[in-house]
Amino acid sequence: MISAPWLFRIRGFRRFHGYELGPLIFVRKPLEEAPENLVVHELMHVWQHQHRPLRLWLSYLWQGYRANEHEIEAREAVRKTSG
Ligand SMILES: [Zn+2]
Repeated sequence: MISAPWLFRIRGFRRFHGYELGPLIFVRKPLEEAPENLVVHELMHVWQHQHRPLRLWLSYLWQGYRANEHEIEAREAVRKTSG
């Protein structure tokens, strides 16, 4: 996991607080301040990437972001592990 505030200043990344890229997770905040829920969410994407990389990438083309099955799964992982 890498703290990369510069990444989130780039157009297209501004709306994100974390971003998964293969085995790497980039977060906007310093690592010690990264919210646990964000880490869980991004770790779910790492798992998805390892198990179905092509389907993960393509899904954003035809499902968009909000209703994307992988986003729903990542949000569900946060729901199950928080509180
Ligand atoms: Zn996500």
